[in-house]
Amino acid sequence: MTPEPYRPEPVETFLSPEPLAAMHKALVEVKAQLGRHYPLIIGGEKVDTARKVVSTNPSDPAQVVGTTAMASASEADAALEAAWKAFASWKKWPQEDRSRLLMKAAHVMKRRQRELEAWLVYEIGKNYVEAAAEVAEAIDFLRYYAIQSLKYAAGAPVTHFPGEDNEAFYIPLGAGVVIAPWNFPLAILCGMIMGPVAVGNTVVAKPAEDTVVIAAKLFEIFEEAGVPAGVVNFLPGEGSEVGAHLVAHPKTRFVNFTGSLEVGLRINETAARLAPGQLWLKRVFLELGGKDGLIVDETADLEAAALGTVQSAFGFQGQKCSAASRLIVVDKVADLVVERVVERARQLSVGPAEENPDMGPVASAQQENTVRKYLDIGQDEGKLALGGHRLEGSGYFFEPTVFDHVAPDARIAQEEIFGPVLSVIRVPDFDAALEVANGTRFGLTGGVYSRSRDRLERARREFHVGNLYFNRKITGALVGVQPFGGFNLSGTDTKAGGPDYLLNFLQMKSVTERY
Ligand code: NAD
Repeated sequence: MTPEPYRPEPVETFLSPEPLAAMHKALVEVKAQLGRHYPLIIGGEKVDTARKVVSTNPSDPAQVVGTTAMASASEADAALEAAWKAFASWKKWPQEDRSRLLMKAAHVMKRRQRELEAWLVYEIGKNYVEAAAEVAEAIDFLRYYAIQSLKYAAGAPVTHFPGEDNEAFYIPLGAGVVIAPWNFPLAILCGMIMGPVAVGNTVVAKPAEDTVVIAAKLFEIFEEAGVPAGVVNFLPGEGSEVGAHLVAHPKTRFVNFTGSLEVGLRINETAARLAPGQLWLKRVFLELGGKDGLIVDETADLEAAALGTVQSAFGFQGQKCSAASRLIVVDKVADLVVERVVERARQLSVGPAEENPDMGPVASAQQENTVRKYLDIGQDEGKLALGGHRLEGSGYFFEPTVFDHVAPDARIAQEEIFGPVLSVIRVPDFDAALEVANGTRFGLTGGVYSRSRDRLERARREFHVGNLYFNRKITGALVGVQPFGGFNLSGTDTKAGGPDYLLNFLQMKSVTERY
């Protein structure tokens, strides 16, 4: 296999008429398919259940996007068994063949690009560009991991020792569990499944309850690409029920999780306990929340800083783990920066995702409640500079909201809101800015707008986050370009889309033969 060198899939902007027309057509076609039902997939077999997961459109919650079967413990057991059965042969596939299969899946996804974007618009309320960025990222994960996995096939170099033939090589772990969030329901799910699978593992995948239909579409792609039965198993269900069961299961070899800190901590604890009959220590990968800060100092290009702040805080309604939720600005330019941020944010359109606004709805009734709660808290903790309200109507729409004069230890400056709410923290100087930026329990993304070389270099060393950006927005990490993952309670820093990611799902075996 001689793959083309990896480069990120360009993200469609829909500024020219052709892709825009294709998107409108895809939206019409997908709309005609709303309400369909999708079964579980266990060992290649379609399995239905009496209970259903119902996925609705957050722009219009009365509209059912689709339903899936809802797995319980018995289906989870069967899925893990199927994954182990498939592992026996999948692990023996030549790496080139496995990589070729991932490339094939990337081609199928590329062919269905507009359609997948349309599903994201309906199921989770992304506007066209946000949806396009996500589908491009999913394609990137497939291509990047296909290529990265080839490098492990040669084994690891060891030092020659007289009288012996020594070698070290990599073998996969076994059958693992993937548990995904709703905010990148295609890309993160795809990457968390196909990373481990690329290097010979098999998985049982539990998508988030709110985004089971796009997950079913991903499994259609795997099927079309020819992924063998049992290598990937589709198991939608309740997190606290089937997710928890899978994590505790003695047959689970590893857990690949992306989601909230609260659930991640529970998973970490459960997976650490030895279940009866369990033969290994489970490997657990946890990519969790953030309280991402953007520093603007008095030397910065203030217009660029305001633009980057608004993009980072309000893109996909602030529901990215990388979203800017704290603007940390030096007093001298604070009024000017806040004014510009507020002016730009005020112009953002909010509405049904189908109409391609700047901001669609938040994802669910649960998200709506969380955002409402923090808007109330914010009234006491800051000075409302913009927004602060839910919009009329059934869709979960909120105004972009900015609270100014927020203390660094306020709840809205410390707790992850995961919505379109920005807290502005004013600081006397850059030293204080760095201290505030590092003053949370998270450490996912961060940014600095400054023209001072000294300060940028200081931030490079001292701003303790997994993904740091200078003079640009802090969202939109690209696979292979910005390996993604956080420090502290933001997670185990697996660096999805990074050159070492696949090593997490391999173990090294050393073999010595005496001459
Ligand atoms: P969540 O933790 O509520 O749910 C994530 C998944 O865990 C879902 O599939 C859910 O069903 C499942 N789950 C729930 N309870 C469980 C349990 N007891 N045992 C096993 N599984 C269980 O998170 P969410 O609301 O879907 O996603 C938003 C969160 O994800 C935010 O905190 C965000 O910052 C984070 N996130 C992090 C990254 C990253 O790379 N660091 C990326 C995206 C999202």
